Amino acid sequence: MAGKVRKTNVCTEPFCPTSIDDLKKNILHHVMSFQGRDPERAGNSDIYKALAYTMRDIMTGKWIETQKTYYEKEKKRVYYLSLEFLIGRSLSNAMINLGIYNEVKIAVEELGFDLNDLAEEEEDAALGNGGLGRLAACFMDSIATLKIPAYGYGIRYEYGLFYQQLIDGYQIESPDNWLRHGTPWEFDRKLPVFSVQFYGRLSSYQDENGSFRVRWVDTEDVMAIPCDIMIPGYKNDHVVNMRLWTARASRELDLNFFSRGDYIGAVQSKVSSETISKVLYPPDHNLAGQELRLKQQYFFVAATFQDIMRRYKKKENSNFDKFSNRVAVQLNDTHPAIAIPELMRLLLDVEGLNWEKAWNICTHTFAYTNHTLMPEALEKWTVEMMGKVLPRHLEIIFEINKHFLDLVKMQYPGDVNRLRAMSIIEEGDVKKIRMAHLAIVGSHSVNGVAELHTKLLKNNLFKSFHEFYPGKFNSKTNGITPRRWLKLANPALSTLISDHIGSDWVTDLDKLRDLENFADDTEFCKQWQEVKLGNKKRLASLIEKECGIVVNPHAMFDVQVKRIHEYKRQLLNCLHVIALYHRMLRHPEENLVPRCIIFAGKAAPTYWKAKLIVKLITSIGEVVNKDPRIGEKLRVVFLPNYNVSQAEVIMPAADLSEQISTAGTEASGTGNMKFSLNGALTIGTLDGANIEILEEVGEENIFIFGMTAAEAEYERLNVSRSPRSICDENSVIGAVMDSIQNGSFSRGDGEFFRPLVDSLLSEHDPYLLMLDLESYLECQGRVNDAFLDHQQWTRKSILNVARMGKFSSDRTIRQYAEEIWRVPVNG
Ligand SMILES: *Cc1c(COP(=O)(O)O)cnc(C)c1O
Repeated sequence: MAGKVRKTNVCTEPFCPTSIDDLKKNILHHVMSFQGRDPERAGNSDIYKALAYTMRDIMTGKWIETQKTYYEKEKKRVYYLSLEFLIGRSLSNAMINLGIYNEVKIAVEELGFDLNDLAEEEEDAALGNGGLGRLAACFMDSIATLKIPAYGYGIRYEYGLFYQQLIDGYQIESPDNWLRHGTPWEFDRKLPVFSVQFYGRLSSYQDENGSFRVRWVDTEDVMAIPCDIMIPGYKNDHVVNMRLWTARASRELDLNFFSRGDYIGAVQSKVSSETISKVLYPPDHNLAGQELRLKQQYFFVAATFQDIMRRYKKKENSNFDKFSNRVAVQLNDTHPAIAIPELMRLLLDVEGLNWEKAWNICTHTFAYTNHTLMPEALEKWTVEMMGKVLPRHLEIIFEINKHFLDLVKMQYPGDVNRLRAMSIIEEGDVKKIRMAHLAIVGSHSVNGVAELHTKLLKNNLFKSFHEFYPGKFNSKTNGITPRRWLKLANPALSTLISDHIGSDWVTDLDKLRDLENFADDTEFCKQWQEVKLGNKKRLASLIEKECGIVVNPHAMFDVQVKRIHEYKRQLLNCLHVIALYHRMLRHPEENLVPRCIIFAGKAAPTYWKAKLIVKLITSIGEVVNKDPRIGEKLRVVFLPNYNVSQAEVIMPAADLSEQISTAGTEASGTGNMKFSLNGALTIGTLDGANIEILEEVGEENIFIFGMTAAEAEYERLNVSRSPRSICDENSVIGAVMDSIQNGSFSRGDGEFFRPLVDSLLSEHDPYLLMLDLESYLECQGRVNDAFLDHQQWTRKSILNVARMGKFSSDRTIRQYAEEIWRVPVNG
């Protein structure tokens, strides 16, 4: 029992260098001992790695201490399950959160290196598609900063979100091999390793008590290996763990194949198991229904629950009475919702609990976050596929549904339509499992991600569930971490702010309100403008490097960056760009603000219409940017390969943030918050969190246009004006449409953008672009006039930042902790 005697006055922080000299020593030590490099000959990539390991050393001791406190205090642990974590780079974030940014910067300089160059060496961890994955990453930062006993769980994809190039204006995808040179931020662990079952068949038997039990046999097994990434809180010595699973073949090579002399078969079987953690699925807001995707979901859920059970049993053995007092599981969308039948399976088949007891534990453990209102984006798995891949789970889902529908029947006798609408199983030629229904039934909390979104969930999409489960639905408006999205991304503005109101805002974003006192301070406004200009110059260099286009940093930077999707309406923005182009040509004497219109974002590789929108944007750029009549007044650029690191350069440089989705389609948005926190003004619809941004900043500090969600809903059913009549009646809009149709942006080929024109002119356009276009163009006119008054614009910019406190993910996480997880904050 030597382990018990050992006392922890051994240094738990093996290398905790915080003085500049120690930092330098430690960096050089890593270069020599771990990389075997001569420090004299080390380059940026060697020093980056050594520096990253130095940060990791500092975190490790804090991480061990943090884990110990959870264990000793028998705390309730929160498990945040997400198929995506879009964390981006870790180096600068670690330096900031460890509170040693300046020391490291000096140490690195004294070694003869530039910190920015080193940071550029790091590959983005793009283990997510967009907003949902980035939310999970912001949440991890806030969880660590608020000292919440929580773990993130996900998959360690070998290939993250694809790399986007533009070739001849088309999106071309290539694999994102982000682990090519390894990553210094992870601990590859050998233990615990768990086995995950797939396929096989069920066999029933009677146990020693004569009860009917089920065994899942003849399965194909895959091993799950943990890989841990440490997430440091902001200057609080708290470090939380994000555990990502890698798939490994259950044996190095399958001996069954060998015994048959089939070496190739053996290798293929290994490759096939390991495919599970190979690649992140790119679709965002619509799913392909691929078997491999279901396997990914179950793989990480099954491994995670073995880990949760192991940890629970260390204290409570096989007494599950306290389970939901010790374990809270948050499901980030329905992607991990297979966890509900999995926990049932473990409690029924492995632990031998009865149905009622197991179900009670389940529904007190899970909480589900919905991320979309669009019916086509709700996950469904065919009964056939579920039965093949996870036969026992299919049985359990049927049983859950039977119990659930019995309760519904009691409340609404004879109401078969309601029963059919609420069932977890969708009837039809192909029977499907509605994962959202499963998640609602199996959770004690269902939350939307903004007020409007939650209201629409309650009143439309899940109305009958809200009636059946009053109190289960609640709202948790998304947020973003101020550490990454202000302090890290915008150091100049952060310094200016802290010089005037102190630096408490970093962990208490409401403190930004004190900036209101400076909104009319001429000197402060001047400095504010200088910071913005500096950030715009930084983005201008990136644009020149990436696109070869020179932009004027004094022009208005009008930015729309987000995934390319019809509902986000990049096309609406295109129509304004063309209208502006025409106006500049026709009325060169007019006092229009020079604009640089910036787009970035990836289209799902199979979403051809979104890819055609990319091509339209780049084609408009080709024409406009080369038109000598336009001079410097208008530029259209598409920055390739939008990711977190690029967003960190874009947000601080924006003047105008485009948040123009059809009202009622964007659940929340978080890009909108990043822009506003960095002093951009928003042009937006009454959608998602835009509404709450409006409430916070006040209507004189934001540009709102277009239909409300209710009006959009109404228009879809009773079209008040046809898109064609709008083109006929409004000559500006008519000319815009004509120019696309006559091939002005496609070398005379009028057919080229036909599919886009057709959807714009269709009376069944679900995103109602034409119906919002006049209002949008009028609103852009107001933006133009407002920008002409630079002083007033700056004032609005300051007030935007001052009033963004609500949108800190610290606020969001506090609400999850208090209202859903019921765990103490800062405990
Ligand atoms: C914030 C963020 C998003 C989400 O942007 P929305 O405008 O809310 O859709 C997507 N991708 C990246 C890289 C981000 O940082």
